[in-house]
Amino acid sequence: MLRSTLLWASTNPFLAQRLPRYGFVRRAARRFMPGETLVDALRAAEGLRDKGAPTTLTLLGENVTTAAGADAVADHYLRALDAVRARGLDTEISVKPTQLGLDLGLDGARRRLEHIVAACDPGTLVWMDMESSAYVDPTLEIFRSVRQNRGNLGLCLQAYLRRTEPDLEELLPLSPAIRLVKGAYREPPDVAFPRKADVDRNFLRLAGMLLAARGVGAAGRPVMGTHDLRIIEEAERLAREAGVGADDWEVAMLYGIRTDEQVRLIGSGLALRVLISYGTAWFPWYLRRLAERPANVWFVLKQLAG
Ligand SMILES: Cc1cc2nc3c(=O)[nH]c(=O)nc-3n(C[C@H](O)[C@H](O)[C@H](O)COP(=O)(O)OP(=O)(O)OC[C@H]3O[C@@H](n4cnc5c(N)ncnc54)[C@H](O)[C@@H]3O)c2cc1C
Repeated sequence: MLRSTLLWASTNPFLAQRLPRYGFVRRAARRFMPGETLVDALRAAEGLRDKGAPTTLTLLGENVTTAAGADAVADHYLRALDAVRARGLDTEISVKPTQLGLDLGLDGARRRLEHIVAACDPGTLVWMDMESSAYVDPTLEIFRSVRQNRGNLGLCLQAYLRRTEPDLEELLPLSPAIRLVKGAYREPPDVAFPRKADVDRNFLRLAGMLLAARGVGAAGRPVMGTHDLRIIEEAERLAREAGVGADDWEVAMLYGIRTDEQVRLIGSGLALRVLISYGTAWFPWYLRRLAERPANVWFVLKQLAG
């Protein structure tokens, strides 16, 4: 119930305008982001590099409604790539299709993405985030089209969607880099598994498919985007069974979530990448983080009391 309410609130423009003005909400959100600027994110990436973690940067924002706004996002990512290169960081970027103007049409979003991927070193991946289910088809279409000429484009897939297994089967012949996550949006039960146990089971099934493909020579990197330690343990077992070496797949976690476990897992020899979100448009993203773990709401209330 609380999860549903938080996910509903994350799409409410009235709340998005008002709530971020409150200091206690801003303070609570800082738990999951190092700051609002690229410089804040780069500083965090340098700190994580010193702890042995490569990173991914993502500028917060979604459903950009003007071509000028989407162009500005693409320009921002070009500047981010330059800054990453100048600092010699092992840092990738992850982009939301609607941030590149997908709501305005597929062609513009594809053109902007192509531009970003072309500006990136061929050895560095640009990731496409996966948004709510209405965007899966156009996101797959853009991915397939840009991926034809650019090998360094990766795609996020969501294990809670009933359609993801057939989608993955169709994508596997491309040998793509896939970041598997559980899924963060509010979806009806005919579209997404409503029970956590079914989502977890599907995650492991899809992880098995990705790791098996990697084990027989697929080029794309399988990434398990999860903080779920049981799933990570199972993925390690699946990787061993498929003969996939520790450097040939990754776990990815979000900045500020289970930081102690991130350190422990890196120490254990696991390849772990941290996704750092930054920017001013953090409200919907932050409410999705609260929805993932309703206990986080107590943290907000404590900030209010403080
Ligand atoms: C690198 C990365 C990229 C992602 N990209 C996308 C994307 O493109 N599209 C998309 O729909 N979703 C994305 N997500 C979010 C994802 O779909 C899940 O909503 C999120 O990762 C929580 O699920 P979980 O796998 O960690 O498992 P859960 O079962 O939700 O959590 C497992 C445990 O992790 C801890 N935990 C999880 N979330 C939180 C939190 N917010 N605060 C505190 N503790 C927490 C808790 O201890 C919890 O018990 C991404 C996640 C990661 C890590």
